Amino acid sequence: APPTVPMPPTTSHHEAAVDAEEDQSTEDPTVEDLAVRVAVRARPLVAKERLERARECLAYPSPTTVVLGKNRAFHFDEVFGPDSEQTRVYDNLVAPLVDACFDGYNATVLAYGQTGSGKTYTMGSMAAHAGGDDEVGVIPRVIRDIFAGIDKRRGASECTVRCAFLEVHNEEVRDLLHPDVTTKKISVRERADGAIVVSGIRECEARGAEEMVRLLEN
Ligand code: ADP
Ligand code: MG
Repeated sequence: APPTVPMPPTTSHHEAAVDAEEDQSTEDPTVEDLAVRVAVRARPLVAKERLERARECLAYPSPTTVVLGKNRAFHFDEVFGPDSEQTRVYDNLVAPLVDACFDGYNATVLAYGQTGSGKTYTMGSMAAHAGGDDEVGVIPRVIRDIFAGIDKRRGASECTVRCAFLEVHNEEVRDLLHPDVTTKKISVRERADGAIVVSGIRECEARGAEEMVRLLEN
């Protein structure tokens, strides 16, 4: 895979495992090792769970450790507990990626977890429905910072922002910016150079943050 994002050295689980095996290794970790960071975020109990008298079963003994139950510890690059704010999650995990994009790197942010675990809340694809400004999630923050970054560089360089928004459900891909395109016309395939591309998806140009948020909300 092409190098994506330069990140400060972290001790990912992957690296830690390698270190343990080759104790004296002075080899630099590969770019790939440093380019992927894995964080876990636990959400607070929701009202329904509190009504059911559910109890928290996680502990956070360090900023990179979460303990499940009594003694099952898991290590991540970052651990965010139930009182972690959207701002802190964004500033730690995502803001550096947006900066790196302006240096020509690609970036991906992936939220993974079972239904109800907080993916939509964290990514914040429903900006308009969010409570206050503090509640706003990753996507609207990225949009804001991309256009702020472009403004800062005005005169020095010229930028065009294009976006696509797609949904994969039961192996079918839908173009959410062009819902009238039938899913049969859209396919995911691997290009000769190994890149995975979605063909049949059309990008839209966005000239400002509001326009881009509106595109994603419609
Ligand atoms: P998912 O998209 O993974 O299915 P949601 O993002 O819809 O999960 O979250 C499930 C519920 O938990 C929602 O009511 C959401 O508002 C709430 N929630 C999720 N994460 C948090 C959080 N960090 N703080 C407060 N409430 C949260
Ligand atoms: Mg969701």
